[in-house]
Amino acid sequence: MAGIILFHVSQLLIQARHAVAGLEELRQVLDTASRITAERAPSNVLMAGEPGQTAEARARLNAARSNTDRALNQAATIVDGVPFNDIMRHLVQARALVELAAAETPVRYESVQRAAEALFATYDAYQAVVMRKAALLIHSDPELAGPVQHALILCALRDDAGRLGSTVIAPLIAGVPMPPANIAAGERLNGRIKMQRQLLFLSPDLSDSSRLPISLRAAAENALVKEGEPLVTRFVVEGTSGGPYSLTAAAFSNRYVEALKPLEVWRTAYLDSLLADYKQKERQAWGLAWVVGTIMLCVISLIAGGVLLVHQRVLRPLLVASEAVVNLAHREPVHFPLIHNGSPELNPLFEAVELLDLKLREWDADTQRLKHQAETDELTSLLNRRAFQMLGEPWLESAGSDRNAFLILLDIDHFKSINDRYGHATGDQVLVMVATALLAHVRSDDLVGRIGGEEFAVLIRAQDQETAVALAHRLRKGVEDIFMQTAEGEKISVTSSFGVAANKHLTWRQFMAKADVALYDAKQAGRNCVRVAQQDMPGGQPPSLS
Ligand code: GH3
Ligand code: MG
Ligand code: MG
Repeated sequence: MAGIILFHVSQLLIQARHAVAGLEELRQVLDTASRITAERAPSNVLMAGEPGQTAEARARLNAARSNTDRALNQAATIVDGVPFNDIMRHLVQARALVELAAAETPVRYESVQRAAEALFATYDAYQAVVMRKAALLIHSDPELAGPVQHALILCALRDDAGRLGSTVIAPLIAGVPMPPANIAAGERLNGRIKMQRQLLFLSPDLSDSSRLPISLRAAAENALVKEGEPLVTRFVVEGTSGGPYSLTAAAFSNRYVEALKPLEVWRTAYLDSLLADYKQKERQAWGLAWVVGTIMLCVISLIAGGVLLVHQRVLRPLLVASEAVVNLAHREPVHFPLIHNGSPELNPLFEAVELLDLKLREWDADTQRLKHQAETDELTSLLNRRAFQMLGEPWLESAGSDRNAFLILLDIDHFKSINDRYGHATGDQVLVMVATALLAHVRSDDLVGRIGGEEFAVLIRAQDQETAVALAHRLRKGVEDIFMQTAEGEKISVTSSFGVAANKHLTWRQFMAKADVALYDAKQAGRNCVRVAQQDMPGGQPPSLS
């Protein structure tokens, strides 16, 4: 929509500027035509060769000729595609004929007539330039058809009125009776002038009358009908009745040119007012473009402001909220309260994100607790069997490195009888104290688990088996040293048997079984002792270390 309006306004502006430039050029082209016409009067006076008039006529003619040349050169830069050479040829020929006639004494009718007709021919040849310029202008802007035609008719009227005077000039200069050909030419011109006056009246550009003071038109009509035409008629009458002419050629020429001046004023004023009109249109188009441009700028600014506001108040806060949700999903830190400049309508969203954070933290805590519960033996807080395997199994991959995995299994001796004798609760207490004793002797990176009722396991990394066996002995001693007594003061003796195994590229199950065999050996050997699983070397005997 904005684009369409801008397009139309710019078209209007381009059209107005184009019309002004075109009309200015047309005026220059028409002024050139007037320059060609303006050579006639001083030429006639020069050819008349009247004493006292020649010098002034020569000066006027020279000035008129250089004006014509300058104007023609300018016109050639405005209109192309027209044979200017042809026009120049006519002009040079006409000027030569004028000079020839001026040099004759006495001057002959034919010489003057030929020179006058050659000047007409120059003007006629130049009409090609006028018509081309007019056609181009009307083609580019058909709205200019009326004003352009009006201007052309005004020019033609001025020229034909001038030609009318020239029909009597040759007989007048030569002092001969008026030839019928000149009378016929005058009548033809009168007819044309009449038609042009009617055309001007009918011309579609009647705004002429509103644009120009009516007096200009009236003065021109008056000059033509009451002065120019009667003057010519008077000479035709004088020339046909055989009597002498009442004015010299120079006097006639000067009077006739003076009489036609209102026609020239009308023509010039029309073109001036036409140009002023189109310049006004151009200014209006500029004004319109400015108003439309300003309105559009305002609208664009409003839209941009709206978009910015929506971005600041809605989109950015939404982005902040979504980033927070993504961070929460990845358990990355989110700093509450979230800072945003969003509209208050978004508050529930941010409250929801905070609630989500709270619930996630509760959920994480629950998960941790459940995980701990799932991995921990409730009674002793040691790892349960499943967790012990889960954490210990990856250690088997270190087999062959300088720190191998060693498994120490232990089982409390005759625990059933402790239960039986002192009760299940005391049995539980014993289990807790064994766990405490084990933890007291291991390092923080060792794994300790309760893997059965009264069975425990310790997994360590050590450089050699001796280290593991030595630890098993310290543990055995630690269990043995547990001090417990009944309410009656009877000491409860607690011992346990140990089986030690080294990992030699074993599976977890094989590793456990191997240690279990060693433990079984310890039980068989009388309990409260340490046995090491048999080495995989054939014939190897487990050392007795009790
Ligand atoms: P041995 O020296 O051969 O290992 O004899 P033992 O009595 O220790 O072994 P046995 O397998 O016969 O008995 C183990 C007992 O451990 C049986 C069971 O009631 C008891 N027990 C298992 N779990 C718990 C527990 O959580 N608390 C208590 N108090 N007793 C338990
Ligand atoms: Mg047992
Ligand atoms: Mg036992």
